[in-house]
Amino acid sequence: MALFYHYLTLGYLLHGIALTLGVTAYGLAGGLGAGIVLAAMQLSGQKWMAALARGYTVVFRGTPLILQMVFVYDALPHFGIRWSAMASAGVALAANEAPFIAEILRSGILGVDRGQVLAGRALGMPAWVLMRHVVAPQAVRTMIPAFGNEAVSALKNSSLASFISVQELTLRSTQLASSTFDFFSVFFASGLFYLLLTGSVSLLQILAERALDLDRPDTKPGRAMAGWRWARTLLEGGPSEPSRAPPAASGVVATRDVPGTGAAQAGAPAPAQGVADGAIAVEVQNLTMRYGERTIFGGLSLRVHAGEIVALLGPSGSGKSTLLRCLNRLETWNSGSVFINGHRLGVSSGGLVLGDSAVARQRIEVGVGMVFQHFNLFAHVSARENIAGPLRWVHGWSAQAAAGRAQELLDRVGLADRADALPRHLSGGQQQRVAIARAIAPRPRVLLLDEPTSALDPEMVGEVLEVIRRLASDEGLTMLISTHQLRFAEEVADRVVFLAQGGIVEDGPAHQVLHTPSHPLTSRFIRVMAAGQLAGVST
Ligand code: ADP
Ligand code: MG
Repeated sequence: MALFYHYLTLGYLLHGIALTLGVTAYGLAGGLGAGIVLAAMQLSGQKWMAALARGYTVVFRGTPLILQMVFVYDALPHFGIRWSAMASAGVALAANEAPFIAEILRSGILGVDRGQVLAGRALGMPAWVLMRHVVAPQAVRTMIPAFGNEAVSALKNSSLASFISVQELTLRSTQLASSTFDFFSVFFASGLFYLLLTGSVSLLQILAERALDLDRPDTKPGRAMAGWRWARTLLEGGPSEPSRAPPAASGVVATRDVPGTGAAQAGAPAPAQGVADGAIAVEVQNLTMRYGERTIFGGLSLRVHAGEIVALLGPSGSGKSTLLRCLNRLETWNSGSVFINGHRLGVSSGGLVLGDSAVARQRIEVGVGMVFQHFNLFAHVSARENIAGPLRWVHGWSAQAAAGRAQELLDRVGLADRADALPRHLSGGQQQRVAIARAIAPRPRVLLLDEPTSALDPEMVGEVLEVIRRLASDEGLTMLISTHQLRFAEEVADRVVFLAQGGIVEDGPAHQVLHTPSHPLTSRFIRVMAAGQLAGVST
């Protein structure tokens, strides 16, 4: 036993631990770097890059690490590449870890709800902002257990470096045992060291999971965000948010007469000139769009004036959501043009097709916001941060101005007391009210609402419709709302546009279309819907 304690404190073995940790650290750090590259290649959408990454994965995941180490240490020198045993072990371990880490990264990223990605894009976030503020924080949380696993397995795999004579813990234990013949005590001590090391990794994993667990009763989203900010400050060596002047106006909303000009924001683009009542806010010209063989729109044209409120009706699958997504270029179409406030979407003023980040900028320039059927709130941040975050990340607002705007809007949608709640701790109706607040926070001039109440339990429909109703009368926004709520459409909308069979089959004043539809498809649709909902509207 005395010998066992002796081995536990023996400098020879302790130095072996240092080398074990060294090889593991090289392997994990190099593996993370190469894994990020591999994951990016696979997610890039470029077929040849994805194929290259997959080829690498097949080779390095499919051959034993010990062969890779021996290859790097013994075979590469024949090609003039010579590294020390330690570096060879680190490089081989990194090369071997990379495909595993890449898969962890990929599954974490792909696991983030697509709706949130869509919402981020609709809010004008370019890809890197989306990755940094929406995808990465959520992906990291889900990846921690797998990373913990990988770190433990890398630690144990580092023992294979003993085969290329790195003096790490396993090699030193073997040497010590063969010189003392005290195999039991030496290997028992060595095993205990490995357990302590892997146990520390598990402890770190538990701590990281706890720190990022937003559902813990003592964790407030605000505090977790502060953790992120702290980590970011540390990484970047400076404050995490640009500090710009607060917005000029306090919390005044635009009036119906002068849409969108009520409060120009510091850092936000100036509203486009020439938008006034009567001007064309949305113009769709001869839009054709196909999904594979299926034609969704065969030459659809539509004009909406500034300040007009249009209800989009139509049977399920008629293209309401697709049309709304075209109006902020979340979809690409086959031919035709979409103009928002005079800007042709997806095309520069010089006529060039815009790339993704330019389209993101254009969404902000033209001032188009969107509310989704399934709310698509950012799940990892509070209601307040859902509104304030995009204002800072995309529009460059100061933290104080953004928080003020968020609080003002939460107040207006009746959720001031739930500002710190996570989306999943809110009811569907409350989530949708936050989503509406988030969409109007940067003061868009056109607001697209895609069946904003369809995913709600019936008792929550009213509260959301009330918020939209107030928006419609107070804000002077141009609104396009796809809905099945006929009574609401009649009450709120100036116009009803009925979509069916790849185009608009009827378009007219709300009251007229709802009460005296001229097209048989409209009339049938309204009859069926009205039977379920309306007493006042009949055909
Ligand atoms: P609505 O909102 O009116 O119910 P959508 O705009 O969602 O209709 O869909 C219109 C049509 O396009 C449907 O037939 C739907 O199946 C099809 N569609 C929508 N999105 C896709 C997609 N990503 N890939 C293929 N088909 C799609
Ligand atoms: Mg739809």
